[in-house]
Amino acid sequence: MIYQHNQTQANVIMGKCLKLLEQYELSPTPVNYAVAYELQVGKNVGLRSDYEELIENRSQINNYAMQHLYFSHLHEANHVDKEFAEPFTNVLRDTLSDIEESRKVVTNYQKELDESEKKLENFKPETTKQLITKLKKSTKMLKAEQQKLAVRLQQAETETNSLRVNLAKLEKEATIDTLSQLLNRQGLQKALNHTKFDHPHNSVILFDIDNFKDVNDNYGHIFGDHVIQHVAKEIKSRVRGRDLAIRYGGEEFLVILADTEIKGAQVVGEKIRSGVERLRWRNVKTGKQLPSITLSGGITQLKREESLQEDINSIISRADEALYNAKSAGRNRVKFK
Ligand code: GH3
Ligand code: MG
Ligand code: MG
Repeated sequence: MIYQHNQTQANVIMGKCLKLLEQYELSPTPVNYAVAYELQVGKNVGLRSDYEELIENRSQINNYAMQHLYFSHLHEANHVDKEFAEPFTNVLRDTLSDIEESRKVVTNYQKELDESEKKLENFKPETTKQLITKLKKSTKMLKAEQQKLAVRLQQAETETNSLRVNLAKLEKEATIDTLSQLLNRQGLQKALNHTKFDHPHNSVILFDIDNFKDVNDNYGHIFGDHVIQHVAKEIKSRVRGRDLAIRYGGEEFLVILADTEIKGAQVVGEKIRSGVERLRWRNVKTGKQLPSITLSGGITQLKREESLQEDINSIISRADEALYNAKSAGRNRVKFK
């Protein structure tokens, strides 16, 4: 993220950021401050909409939520800037300066040619030798400069190619959630843009870990993260080639089942639910076995007139209603709508 504010503007923004952090009793750590700063001045639509969603759902804006916002919306952008934009700008700057250098030599050479042309028009035998020596020298210089530029352009091409490979790698990384190794929301969007889900029998399941706040409160956030990783693994092990598994929110997972009708989706949903229930958890310090952790899920099948690309939000909100029913009915179950 590049911000161009003078001292006075930055001070005003700082005041607003601190106020926002104070409102949620958050300390101005670099991560919290970066999120607050971007919320005050940035045009990061994804960050703003996730932040507003948190508020709308009355979720707590705590260090955790801030960290999540940071890693989902700011960290990767910086990462891309550092790993790609910076070296790319360097190659471009060096190449342009080499071209400028060559341009100067060529311009000088042209000048000399013009002058020589004039002198040749007023031809005097005694100046000819002098003129030829000078032109020979300039031609040699020009040749050397052209060779240098050719080498430099070759190098720039190699560097650009390796940057292109890096960019492809970074683009892929930006669509994968670091903790769970599932697709993130950006990954979902990209997959929807690139994959043709034109089969009418696609189903969607939205999972949410039950009482996860208690898991964090009782065993700590690091354990909570560990749970997210293993639940993600369980989900991944149950989806097939064209299906998509997404970490949709903190402890919410979305599964898109291609060519699968509601009956099939219920089987998959139940397998994932029972698979997670069967996972065994241990307290690392005491070795004591911990109670099961469970998931609730909401399933929906696409209607005939719906398309995943265009109606993803309303499809997910239908799955969310089913999920809500599963929670109300006592959790650790999968409902459909
Ligand atoms: P419910 O059964 O109704 O879903 O109850 P819940 O406690 O799970 O409630 P909710 O889904 O609203 O809570 C989500 C909690 O998950 C709140 C947040 O602190 C925690 N959380 C979100 N993202 C992460 C994460 O990346 N790691 C950890 N450890 N916790 C997270
Ligand atoms: Mg939740
Ligand atoms: Mg939950």
